[in-house]
Amino acid sequence: MAPPDDSSRRTAGGRLRILIAEDDPVSALVLRRVLEDLLHDVDHAASGHEAWKLAQTSPYDVIVSDWMMPGVDGLELCRLTRSRLEGAYTYFILLSSKSEREARIEAVAAGVDDFLAKPVDTAELEARLTTARRILNMQDELRTRSAKLSQTTGYLETANRRFSDLFMGLPVPSITFDTEGRIAEWNRAAQSLFDLDADEVWQRQAVEVFADPDDLEWAESLVQRSIGGQCIENEERTVHRPDGSPRYVLYSTFPLKNNAGRIIGVVCTCSDLTAQRNLEKQLAEQLRVANNLNEALEAGKEELALANARLAELATTDGLTGLKNHRTFIEALEPSLAYAKRHREPLSLVLCDIDHFKHFNDAFGHPAGDALLREFAALLSCHSRTEDLVARCGGEEFAILLRNCGRENAIGVAEKLRAVIADHEWDLRKITASFGVQTLVDFEVPSIEAIVESADRALYASKQAGRNRVTHAADLHSVEAGKKAA
Ligand SMILES: [Mg+2]
Repeated sequence: MAPPDDSSRRTAGGRLRILIAEDDPVSALVLRRVLEDLLHDVDHAASGHEAWKLAQTSPYDVIVSDWMMPGVDGLELCRLTRSRLEGAYTYFILLSSKSEREARIEAVAAGVDDFLAKPVDTAELEARLTTARRILNMQDELRTRSAKLSQTTGYLETANRRFSDLFMGLPVPSITFDTEGRIAEWNRAAQSLFDLDADEVWQRQAVEVFADPDDLEWAESLVQRSIGGQCIENEERTVHRPDGSPRYVLYSTFPLKNNAGRIIGVVCTCSDLTAQRNLEKQLAEQLRVANNLNEALEAGKEELALANARLAELATTDGLTGLKNHRTFIEALEPSLAYAKRHREPLSLVLCDIDHFKHFNDAFGHPAGDALLREFAALLSCHSRTEDLVARCGGEEFAILLRNCGRENAIGVAEKLRAVIADHEWDLRKITASFGVQTLVDFEVPSIEAIVESADRALYASKQAGRNRVTHAADLHSVEAGKKAA
């Protein structure tokens, strides 16, 4: 039944809306006059049935009802009022000549608030209405408070549901646990991170979930510090999911407090660093591979440099004797000549040739000939100055370029080498060599060919003169001049 509109509720001391239910017209008239004299709004129903119809359509503060009525009697009217009318409270006064205890108990059980003996005493009625007004006001107050409480409860429920939805939907894995360390809430992101459903972890100890079995000490410490009121920031741990895959998790916590400031639990948020850590591992691995490649490349470079040096050595060296080869010697001549001219330094060239080398080869064979060439080269090399360039020019011919060395010194060097060779203890037979020397004169030598040619002529002269000797090209002119003069 719709609650009657109670906007017309009385204020303290104000008028009340009163329904009289009385089948005796005289009693009803008397009662009405009394109540109207007390400035109340009064309606009268001549039967219980009529009274019930009026009560359903119009709100009354008070119903004053006769007990004994045909059809719906006072008690039934009260029961109907209590069970079927919602909304504002109606104060029910039962008029009765009955004073039996049982009857009154029955009436109270039916919801009657008060009794009034017939015939009605005006002063007593007024006192009862004062009580009624007080009770009605209290009822109103109660209703208002109840409505407010109900509204507040609704707000709280909504807020709680919103918080719960928000918490569950947070993209950050979030967990709450109580002061015993038991998990209370576990959002969807946490389910995904740990691969554990909320019902699998609910009321489980947080320490069992937060860390691997060998890391329980840390987890215990985290939980205890959090419950103790500490805010924990970013402690990283590795935890393995049920399938064994590792997750790198950054834990932060803060305590939950009630209105009194007492800690009632802890919120824990987890950042999943797995993707980042895996990426770092991949990068480190790639870096390691790159480093290995780089090392291999460096090693390759070194090998290549060595190989190049060896090639260069081969290209400039005579394979048999280890001396510089002919090409290198010719190449060295030009800058040496240029240097000597510019700095006006003497420069000498010594050519030498092993005497009767062809006979030696014929007599002892080519391997012995090669051995002789090697030994000969070693002697030249060993007894030359460091700055001298010693080369094999081909066959049994050798050349020595003497830097900063004038005619007399050059002859001295050649003579020393000649003596070293002649005096050397050779295995198979005595070996000698012939020498031709030329010195850069007045720094006006026209060309390399010219200096080589004149040294060669001096060498030839030594051969002609009986071998095992040294001839300087400058002396050839005087010899030739002497011959001409003769
Ligand atoms: Mg009656």
